[in-house]
Amino acid sequence: MRYTEYLLPTLKETPSDAEVVSHKLMLRAGMIRKLAAGIYNYLPLGLRSIRKVEQIIREEMDRAGAIELLMPMVIPAELWEESGRWDHYGRELLRLTDRKDAPFCLGPTHEEVITDLVRNTVRSYRQLPLNLYQIQGKFRDEIRPRFGLMRGREFIMKDAYSFDLDESCADLAYEKMYQAYRRIFERCGLKFRAVEADTGNIGGTSSHEFMVLAASGEDAIVSCGQCEYAANIEKAEVVIEECSAPTPAATLNKVATPDCKSIEEVSAFLNLAPQRLVKTLIVQTDAGETLAVLLQGNHELNEIKLCRLLGCNEVTLASDEEVRKVTGAPPGFAGPVGLSLRVFADFALRSQSDVVAGANEVDAHYVGVNPGRDFEVEQYADLRAARAGDICPRCGGVLEIWRGIEVGHVFKLGTRYSAALGATVLDDKGQERELFMGCYGIGVGRTVAAAIEQNHDENGIIFPMPIAPFHVLVTVVNPRQEEVLAAAEKLYAELQSLGVEVLLDDRDERPGSKFKDADLIGIPLRITVGARGLKEHAVELQERASGERRMLPLADASAMVRDMVVAACGDGL
Ligand code: ATP
Ligand code: MG
Repeated sequence: MRYTEYLLPTLKETPSDAEVVSHKLMLRAGMIRKLAAGIYNYLPLGLRSIRKVEQIIREEMDRAGAIELLMPMVIPAELWEESGRWDHYGRELLRLTDRKDAPFCLGPTHEEVITDLVRNTVRSYRQLPLNLYQIQGKFRDEIRPRFGLMRGREFIMKDAYSFDLDESCADLAYEKMYQAYRRIFERCGLKFRAVEADTGNIGGTSSHEFMVLAASGEDAIVSCGQCEYAANIEKAEVVIEECSAPTPAATLNKVATPDCKSIEEVSAFLNLAPQRLVKTLIVQTDAGETLAVLLQGNHELNEIKLCRLLGCNEVTLASDEEVRKVTGAPPGFAGPVGLSLRVFADFALRSQSDVVAGANEVDAHYVGVNPGRDFEVEQYADLRAARAGDICPRCGGVLEIWRGIEVGHVFKLGTRYSAALGATVLDDKGQERELFMGCYGIGVGRTVAAAIEQNHDENGIIFPMPIAPFHVLVTVVNPRQEEVLAAAEKLYAELQSLGVEVLLDDRDERPGSKFKDADLIGIPLRITVGARGLKEHAVELQERASGERRMLPLADASAMVRDMVVAACGDGL
């Protein structure tokens, strides 16, 4: 491709509405342009990278025995009514009506459509196992579309659905997808972790998220330094140490703590470690109940664990006003003594005695507080978030915390959809059996964005070779010099004939601005063709990642570059 014949509108300025690096760089590098909130045009350079990811996904899905098909984006409401999700999916589901007033939605995911297709086409256990996938545009009316392709409203997803006769076959299908996902993200050249994930409301039995590691990731994940254990922080288990309840030694005493609201302030004022303090959180459930949650002072609440314990969908911290109402004091002084709310406490507090807690009175705390004696705990549970340095629940090693971007998700669905839609097959005894399903998604655009979050510097993108829009950028220093242009054109033709994807920067512009664009768009290899080098029959090769430069003999340049590309892509060109 020649730059002068291409559409590659790079920007010098950083667009003001872009918050994260990948969004800024994808706009600046001319990969995407916004049409409406969360809805983007994929420009030629962006599309090439997207297609690379899709190709890797296709090859690995096919290798794992999955079969590609394509389902419609517009889905009749009836199917969603049958599964029960029409009423429950909420406002992320964009609903529309046709000219006959029939209700439809734009597909945010395709469990209903695929289950309907399979119930109408598959009758016998002999047709199993079956794994069907598509790469298609999805629409989710996200509350806060943001970060460019990272959280769009319209986005490209690969979604696969497996169908099996029983649970153990479904487990095998899941394992195959898990391994295929590992290969996909390895082949994309990304650093990632597969982490145990919360199964949320869908209530499946098992789930893993594939997280690309990046400092800007929305998710926190824990990962063991010694073994394979990794989990989303929402799910990460905390090792519970067995202990017997300690005997209280101190008497309950109210002390003045003027202006000390936070754990840090109280801990400094009383000269006690934060572990000796109780953090009392007043929370509200989506069912409208206000209750108290107690944690050790240096621990944080894991809201998902609390929801699971209470059997509710959401918990939020009570407003200042509500805190005043139930405790009689401003926020910062809440404590369990004398509080008329249900009290839940984290396991860590079981082994504590004579602790400090808020006195439900401005500028006052209690010391010598003891559960059982001074207040009742309704239930102790694992409620805190895992932390760096915690003990690994699998091997006893030490946990580390990383930030990650969820790019893929594998999920065991059981018979949730086949039961609702009546998707059955006849087994070898002629008995009707509900199908066991799994679903497996990858965000294609999000994968490209995550790759950029993980691979960039202050000058621009540093594409991993396997998903780079082009392998090589050939920059003509001065295209007005005939022999320079001719040599570059020849190299361009040679590289193309060897199967290397080349962008030829033949623009008549200052070399400085061409080099700036080259850094910005991040093509992994860069060859500069200039009069000075040609005198020595040489061109300069620079690697985007390391910045290393060296001269290559003009005659060998194309073959050498081809070998480098093959080596970096693993599976050939
Ligand atoms: P999130 O928690 O980030 O909203 P999700 O759990 O809703 O993701 P899934 O329903 O599992 O996502 O979808 C499968 C994949 O699709 C995700 O792993 C992610 O890569 C991608 N994806 C989901 N929502 C979006 C979005 N709004 N924009 C871009 N990609 C998305
Ligand atoms: Mg979502």
